[in-house]
Amino acid sequence: MKKIRYPALERKWYRCPKCGTKLAIFDNATKCNGLYIKCRTCKEEVEINI
Ligand SMILES: [Zn+2]
Repeated sequence: MKKIRYPALERKWYRCPKCGTKLAIFDNATKCNGLYIKCRTCKEEVEINI
């Protein structure tokens, strides 16, 4: 099985600010705004600003 090597980036979970559910993984090279994800736990749309 071939191993996939990731670059040395810090990967973090973006969590719902209301309920703490993990919504997406991002790394420290990510820049993002105006992206909306609907939280499956509290059914709120969360804007992601990184
Ligand atoms: Zn939530």
